[in-house]
Amino acid sequence: MSSQGSTIYELDTENQICHIDGDWDQFLQANTNQHQDYENLKKRRVLGNKLESYIHDTNTKMLLQTVFAYVRQTQQRKALPYRCDSADQKRYMSMQIEPLADAGLRVSHTQLRSEPLDPPVVIHFESTGNGETVWRCSICNRIESEQVWLEPDEAAQRWCRNSFNVSYTVCPVCMNTV
Ligand SMILES: [Zn+2]
Repeated sequence: MSSQGSTIYELDTENQICHIDGDWDQFLQANTNQHQDYENLKKRRVLGNKLESYIHDTNTKMLLQTVFAYVRQTQQRKALPYRCDSADQKRYMSMQIEPLADAGLRVSHTQLRSEPLDPPVVIHFESTGNGETVWRCSICNRIESEQVWLEPDEAAQRWCRNSFNVSYTVCPVCMNTV
């Protein structure tokens, strides 16, 4: 498979981003939302930084560290399906992690397919002080309220609202699957 449509970066043994390949700018445009600082994610600024510095919640960090350790230890590649929805699209993504020499890793993000998200759901990162904050899984993008994890469109219908203030975590299903 060519790198067309994929975003690829390499990590050194410390998980510092040491090489970027593929459609980085396109990936950023598609995946940067209002709560991320676009300028700070540009290619030249990202090189040399630790991947973890772009992940804000502890559970997602832990999960990725587990996957990275698995790939380094077994020297086997691993694919991690995840979602990266926009307000009106469910986007099914795959993150593939391959071992490199010297405990390095090559990480590729590819969009597999998308479906309309109907009704559209607007996500705000953390509360601005107005309204309650709910959990959102950074892997499957489901939203939790009252211990039920629902697809964003199901959550919107169930609670009759089209926007949520969220904090990120990893839901029990994704934590156990990985
Ligand atoms: Zn999940």
